[in-house]
This record gives sequence, structure tokens and C-alpha cells, in this order.
Amino acid sequence: MEISGRRYQRLRESMVKNQIEARGIKDPRVLDAMRTVPRHEFVNESLIDQAYNDHPLPIGEQQTISQPYIVALMTEALQVDQDDRVLEIGTGSGYQAAVLAELAYRVYTIERNRTLYDRTRQILEKMGYYNIVCRYGDGTIGCKEEAPFDAILVTAGAPEIPKPLVDQLDVGGRMVIPVGSSSSQMLVKLYRDEKGIHQTDLGGCRFVKLIGQRGWKAE
Ligand code: SAM
Repeated sequence: MEISGRRYQRLRESMVKNQIEARGIKDPRVLDAMRTVPRHEFVNESLIDQAYNDHPLPIGEQQTISQPYIVALMTEALQVDQDDRVLEIGTGSGYQAAVLAELAYRVYTIERNRTLYDRTRQILEKMGYYNIVCRYGDGTIGCKEEAPFDAILVTAGAPEIPKPLVDQLDVGGRMVIPVGSSSSQMLVKLYRDEKGIHQTDLGGCRFVKLIGQRGWKAE
């Protein structure tokens, strides 16, 4: 590995130890994925020195790449298995999709912003993430043609849980979604079994708006 590669590897090790394990994330597969995915490749060059810092970063189009800990927390809660087909709403930089792709069989990711969609699809292709399928459109209605999914992750804050996403969750499936007002949300986990849907709260969070038919109205 060249020098800069080793440097980023060390930054990832330290990010996992000090920001993620230190806050209670334990799943070894999630920790490995966070040690593997080169987060610095998903941020703008001018912010590359901050890629492994303990906060979100702007990615253009008034959107953000989430804080590493939040990515790990949501990924652990999703309990992704290697045979799983996962749907992500809000591709953004593509970083969360890449983390999921380390753990799942296939990841479908939807982005409503054309600029981010075009840019991120190219980056993921160039990096060789062949098990990620990028879609352009409104993720609040899900992806009926590929449903049902074993896991659904929404990475933007919704005013309420979009019904089409619940309908597209398989029996045994998990969904993680931030739900609440535009300024603060609760990270909610849904689990579907034969009896129905079970909901647990994972804690407060703050995401950009989920905009669409079953989300916030565009301004
Ligand atoms: N997962 C991303 C990452 O790893 O960089 C971070 C996502 S960012 C916090 C939220 C993203 O959701 C933005 O890129 C935004 O354009 C997108 N978004 C908002 N509403 C959406 C919708 N209805 N369908 C698809 N994407 C949406």
C-alpha cells in the first residue's frame, strides 16, 4: 500500500476505535466494513483532510455525508446479512451505500437530486462497487419492481414513515428511518414478522429533509 493509502488506513482504524467502538457499536462485520470503505473517496477534495472527523460534511446541493458514527449506528441496527437485498433512500455521496455493499448481496440506492445521482453513480462504478444499483427518482415510493427487501435504510428525515416503504419490507425485514420535524428526528427501527410491524426508538438525530410524494414538500 502506498504512503497515503496507509495514512488513510490508520485514520480509519482510529475512527472506528475512538468514534464508533467507543460509543458502543459492536457488530464485527459493521466495524470491518467501516475499516474497509475509503470514506475520503466520497468527499470533495477540498474537505479530504476532514473525511475521518467526527462530524457530517457538506457534499454540495445543500446535502451532507453523515457522521461516521451515525452510519455505523444505522448499519448495525439494520442487521444486514450477506444474502440480503437492501434498499437505501438518499444515495448522497454513496458512502453509506458502499458500507452496506460490504455486508449485503445487493444494494439498491435511490437519489432524487440529479447532480448527486450522476456524480455518485460514476464514483461507485469507478470504485468497482458492482453490487450497488443506483436509481434516480423519489425514494419515498420505494422501488416496487425490486421489492420485497430484507432491509430498508432511509438517510433523510421523514415527517412520517412512508407507507410504500413499509409495504416493500419482507417478512423478517428491518427498516431504519429518521422520523420527526424538519429540525430534529427520532431514529426509528421497524421489524416485520408474521404478526405485523414492531417499532423501537434508537435515539434522537438530525438529518436533511426527505423530500417527495410521501415526504416533505419541495420548497
Ligand atoms: N446516504 C448518504 C451518504 O452516505 O452520503 C447521505 C444522504 S444525505 C444525508 C440525504 C440524501 O437524501 C440527499 O442526497 C438528498 O438529496 C436525498 N433525498 C432526499 N429526499 C429524497 C427522496 N425522496 N428520494 C431519494 N433521495 C432523497
